[in-house]
Amino acid sequence: MEIIRSEVFSRYPEIIFGMSTRQGGISAGKLDLNMSFNVDDTRANVEENRRRFFNALQIPESSVAFPVQCHSNKVLVARKTGRYEACDGLITLQRNVFLAVSVADCVPIFLFDRNTKAIAGVHAGWRGTCSHIVNNAVRLMKKEFAVNATDLVAFIGPSAGKCCYEVGGEVASQFEPKFVEEGKNHKFKLDLKSANYSQLLSEGVPAENIEVHSACTICSSERFHSYRRDGKESGRMLGIIGVR
Ligand SMILES: [Zn+2]
Repeated sequence: MEIIRSEVFSRYPEIIFGMSTRQGGISAGKLDLNMSFNVDDTRANVEENRRRFFNALQIPESSVAFPVQCHSNKVLVARKTGRYEACDGLITLQRNVFLAVSVADCVPIFLFDRNTKAIAGVHAGWRGTCSHIVNNAVRLMKKEFAVNATDLVAFIGPSAGKCCYEVGGEVASQFEPKFVEEGKNHKFKLDLKSANYSQLLSEGVPAENIEVHSACTICSSERFHSYRRDGKESGRMLGIIGVR
């Protein structure tokens, strides 16, 4: 099973971080290593896929806090494991409370504070990005845990790239022009990774502390799940961050 790791996080041995890909699971067809119960897959398959992934990370699934994602810009504090309704980001200062982000094209963003060891996991699709969810996550870390943005280290994971992520004018117009490239037939290419990168900079996260994974989930062949590419047949990947 291939697990996406982060170069910036690997400098801190206390961090457990990994993101699943599409490969190495037991689900049928394109679902393969599907991590989501909310797609057309059997419960038993997803449970086995998750067991394999958490086994590879060497953590129990019971130590994870899951946001019930809804394309909002809401970020909550996770003081314990379990489900968090109607939010798209979690932050915590608790050791051994691992934060999950579920994606298939949307941008997964993970943060670690070198000083307090606070962490964040954020799900940013176009709605979350244009409503500044990653700004909200950093601000909540500042407010709740007195985090200094210059101590933050960030990883922006595999997600829809500007090579493939086409949107209509009504979506494109909600972003700064520098993140949008006009294409044919009134369609636009949107650069969600750069928009989130820019939001991190605006909060004071140093550029040298931010790693952006280069892969585009839509065109990286069969390596990642992609809702844009596979529609209802698409599974979901899971990214996990925690501090031991
Ligand atoms: Zn692409």
